[in-house]
Parts: sequence; structure tokens; C-alpha cells
Amino acid sequence: MDNNKKKKSILVELIIPLIVAFVIATVILILVVNENQRNVRNMLESLRNEMITLVQRELNLQMDKAILLNKINENAYHNGILDTGVPSNRERYFTGLIKEFDDVAMTYIGLETGEFYGARRNIDGTINIVRNNEDTLGHSEYYSVDEYGNSAELLQVFENFDPRIRPWYEAATQNQRIAFSGIYSHFVFNEPTLTASIPIFENGLLIGVVGVDYLMTGLNKTLTQLPIGENGQVFIIDDKEQLIATTTGESIFNLVEGKSQNKLAADSSNPITKTTMLVSDPLLETALPEVRINGMTYMIGKDKFEFYGNYWDIYTIILEEDFLADKNVTLFRSLAGGLMISLIFMSLILFIIRNVIRPILRLNESAKKMSHGIIDEVPLGKQRNEIYELTQSFNDMSMKIVNHVDELEAQVKLRTIELEEKNEMLRHLSFKDELMGIGNRRRLDDFLEQALELASRNNLNIGLMMLDIDNFKEFNDSYGHIEGDECLRKIGKALKRSVHRKSDLIARYGGEEMVVVLQDTTKENLLKVAENIRLEIHGLMLPNENTELGVVTVSIGAVLCKVKPKQTADEVLNVADQALYEAKANGKNRIEFEELI
Ligand code: GH3
Ligand code: MG
Ligand code: MG
Repeated sequence: MDNNKKKKSILVELIIPLIVAFVIATVILILVVNENQRNVRNMLESLRNEMITLVQRELNLQMDKAILLNKINENAYHNGILDTGVPSNRERYFTGLIKEFDDVAMTYIGLETGEFYGARRNIDGTINIVRNNEDTLGHSEYYSVDEYGNSAELLQVFENFDPRIRPWYEAATQNQRIAFSGIYSHFVFNEPTLTASIPIFENGLLIGVVGVDYLMTGLNKTLTQLPIGENGQVFIIDDKEQLIATTTGESIFNLVEGKSQNKLAADSSNPITKTTMLVSDPLLETALPEVRINGMTYMIGKDKFEFYGNYWDIYTIILEEDFLADKNVTLFRSLAGGLMISLIFMSLILFIIRNVIRPILRLNESAKKMSHGIIDEVPLGKQRNEIYELTQSFNDMSMKIVNHVDELEAQVKLRTIELEEKNEMLRHLSFKDELMGIGNRRRLDDFLEQALELASRNNLNIGLMMLDIDNFKEFNDSYGHIEGDECLRKIGKALKRSVHRKSDLIARYGGEEMVVVLQDTTKENLLKVAENIRLEIHGLMLPNENTELGVVTVSIGAVLCKVKPKQTADEVLNVADQALYEAKANGKNRIEFEELI
């Protein structure tokens, strides 16, 4: 195995590509939704452009009408169709004209002489004519008209009316061409009204001015028909930022002391109109800027309308949501789609984790445990696939290993017992004299050392006797060495019969000399055991023609030792040897006693 390589979990290896795939899918989804939104924006942009075109066309139409009416009046004056000097002519002319144009409130002519003629429409739809000349003493007299358009009944008089000092007159004469008033509230119709006037020249000389008071009802009608959506609006302001028209339904005039005054768009009661006026121009110059008003996002457009030196601004404001009734649905679908994809991916990941990765990780865990000697069976999955087979093989393998280990352990146990037995035997052998079946010299040394130590610690006596077969050399000579061995064997058995306590020891000292050690004993007991031994051996009645009695006998040197600290075995053995020597010297087959204190 390459241990230098950093460990990377199979889980990571599998899940990372899945996550990457998921992210890519999500990004694609977002791009699709974005593209969709861009399309929506494009749609809104073209909608707004259409609206602007409509408004501009309507404005042009209205202006053209006002201009056209003035041109008609101007031409009529020049070619004599309108003859101000002939009352029936001028009265029929103006009556006829105003009847044809519904949105004209008044059409008239003012002359340099101070004369003033025209026709007006009343709120009830009736037509009046006006006359102001020398006959009326400079007052404007309004008359009802008969079915032919001639003046009938005097209805109203405006005293000392001089057309030459009226704004429309002065504007036209100053401009030397068509002039437009601002939008004002018509004092009868209460409608936004525009006055257009043209100066009339004859041979370079100013004769007078013709004018038309034009009701802007058509414009308002057009505006309200625009597809602005539920929350959108269109409004127009003049170069003084006064409201000219609006789709919001609010009045474009303020009533101040009973008089209508033009309202600034910035003073509008409509929050969207008002806020729109606060939007900076640079922002409005960007393509279809989005502005947040009252928590909603509006698209604002500002376009200019220009006519005869007048500049108006047309504002179109659209709330995206109005046109995206299904935008939320699209968003919802996108989210749902995203969620679906997420769920599918998650399920896939979970499936792979459950059915592939987890079993492999479990196998890996078990294999690791196995290397530490812990064996557990891995549960088999439900699917019969390669992992199932691998798990099965793994379990078989672990079972075999378990069995093998058990077998080995049993064998080792058996061998250990055998070995221990053999060891015990060896140990035994190493302490035993094979011929006599009693302890050997090593056993004696070992035993004595421990017995002396124990006795010294507990202040006990030790009894020790040294035995030597009498005339054994000669025995061998007489009966042979094999017989001698046999004799030794029998003496060994006789010794074992004579010494009973477990704490006592019988050992071969060397040749045909034996030592018996009695722990914690008395002189009496020692001598009694010694005598027993002597009699027991004598009692064997093994023939030895070389002894006095003609049987095998032993001489015994016995010593009782009151053990002192650091008492050596040699010292005790020497004293015993001494006693044995005495026994031999005193005639053999006897016991001599010594005390070592
Ligand atoms: P004493 O009564 O003074 O002890 O006379 P002894 O003949 O026994 O003299 P000694 O102790 O010197 O002789 C020991 C003899 O014991 C010598 C040897 O032949 C015999 N012997 C020693 N070990 C063995 C043995 O293992 N087998 C046999 N058959 N004889 C042995
Ligand atoms: Mg001897
Ligand atoms: Mg001897």
C-alpha cells in the first residue's frame, strides 16, 4: 500500500462530482430564469416605447388641431371668408367653425383697432357669439345665436375688454408667428386648456391676432386608455415642471382663493408622481432605470415632447408586477424545479451512500478491526450485487481466520501442557537420584539451604543424619556391582518407609552415603527415626558376608542443630560426618549423636 498518498474517502470521491453536477444544473436553471426575466424586461421596454409613441402622436394631433384652427382663421381672414366688418358674416363664420370642433372652447379674432369677435361653447353645449367694437363702447357682449348662427339675445357683458393687452395677443405679436399659452384650467369647463394664437399681417403690417382656446380633453382620454397597468402612470410636465396631464385622476390645478393655479409635479398628491420628480436626471437617462417607491420597483421612462420652442416631458412609470402576473408563477416554477433537482440529487446521493458507500466503509472498518484482532460479522445488504459478494467473502474469510486462530490456540495450549509436564519431569529428574529413587546431592544442597534459613528465622531445630553402608566395597567385590546397585535401590525404599513427614528429606550424598534431614525436630525424635532406619535396613536381611552380622547394615552419624543465623550446610554436614566417623570407629551398625549449638 502506498502510505504517502493522502487518504481521501470514497464518500468524498463520489459526492464531489455529484455536488459539482448539482451546482452546474442549478446555474443553468438560474441562467434560464434570468433569460426569461430579460425577455420580460424587453417586453416592458417595448411596451413603454409604444406608450410614448402613442402619447406623442396624441399631443401632436392636439397641437396640430389647434394650429390648424388658427391657420383656418388666418386664411379665412386673408381671403375674405371671414369679414370682420360684416356682422352676419363673422357671426356665422365663428358659429359654424366652433360647431365642427368639439374640443374648442372658444375661437376668436382680436384686431389692432381693439375690436374682438368670436364664438364660445358653453358647458351645456350651446354656442354664444361675442362682439366688441365701437358699437359696444369697448365692452365684450355675449349673445345667444339663432339657428343660422346670427346673434339673438344679449346674455353677458364684460366691460372694457381690450384684446390687445391679453397674453395670447401679446405672445403672438411678440413671436411674430404662432404662440402657445401654458396649460390652464378653463374657467367654464374646468378642463386643462391651451390657447394657440397667430398674428395676421397685411403688407407687413400687423392687423390683429386669431386665437383658439383648446380643451385638452382628448389628451386626457388618450392617456387614460394607455396600457399602464394597475399601478403604472403617465404624466406630462411643462418646462416649469407644472403638471400638464396625468393618468392618476388627480387635478393638475390647485385651487387658491377660488382660482385655479397650475400644480407643480413635485407637489403632486400622488406619491409616485412626487417621488418620480426626485429621481435624478442622470439615472433617468440610463435605459429604463428601476426605482424603488414604497417598496415596489418601478420602471421609469422620461421623454421629451417638443413643439414650436416648447418643451414638455412625458414620464411613463410601469410597475413590473402588473405585467408579470405570471412572473411569480415562473419564479415558483423555477424554485420548484430547483427543489426537484435538489431532491433527485439528494436521493441519488443517499441511495449511493446507503447501498454503495456505507457497506464499503463498514467493510473497511471491519477489516481495520480485524487487523487489531477484533472479528465481527458484517451484515449482508439486501441487494445481491458485487458488494454483497464482497461482504460474503469477507465474512467467510474472517470465519476461516477465527477457526484457524482457535485451532492454533488449542494446539499451543496442548503443547504448553506437554511442555510443562516435561519441564516438571526434568525438574524432578534434576533433583532425583535415579538409582535409589530419593533426592540427589543438588536436591540436598537446595533443601538444606532453605531449611536452615527457615529454621534460623523461626528459631527451630534441624535434625540431620548421615548414613554409610558398612563394608560396601567388599559387598561389591563379593556379589558384583549390579547386586550392589540392587542393594542401593532396596535401601532407598527402606529409607522412604522409615521417614514419614512431608517436610523431611532423604537424599543420596554420594556413592553409598545418604543424608536424611528432619525439620523442626527433637533429639529424641531424631534418634528414634535414626534407629528406625538402622533397624529397617537391618531388617532387609540383605546378605553381606563381610559384615559382622552377615547382612547389610548402615552406620549413622546424627546431629541436632540449633540453627543460628548464617548457619552453613557444610558446618552441619561436617559435624554429621564426624558422628558417622565415630559410628564406624565404634564398630559400625550403630548411631552416634552430636549436638551443634
Ligand atoms: P566401611 O564400612 O568403612 O564404609 O567400608 P566400605 O567398604 O563401605 O568402604 P568405602 O565406604 O570406602 O567404600 C565404598 C564403596 O561403595 C566403594 C564402591 O565400590 C561402592 N560403591 C559406591 N557407589 C556405588 C554404586 O553406586 N554401586 C555399587 N554397586 N557400589 C558402589
Ligand atoms: Mg563410604
Ligand atoms: Mg561404606
